[in-house]
Amino acid sequence: MRLKRYFPPPPVECPYCGNTSVLAVTYGYPSPTLQDAIERRQVEHRGCMMPPEPPTHACQDCHYEWREPRTS
Ligand SMILES: [Zn+2]
Repeated sequence: MRLKRYFPPPPVECPYCGNTSVLAVTYGYPSPTLQDAIERRQVEHRGCMMPPEPPTHACQDCHYEWREPRTS
């Protein structure tokens, strides 16, 4: 399990408001490393229930959420 998968490639801009206060959204059981990131509010953790199309990023300014396209 690699640390970098929990963080978006910086800088990430919110497509709605253009703000860069964007956090990666994580799911699943947090590892000690991820737990540390959660406590530092570097990621937004949503727990173990992953929706069919989970958002990967969440804007902390306008609360817009979106799914970063990995392919296509
Ligand atoms: Zn925003």
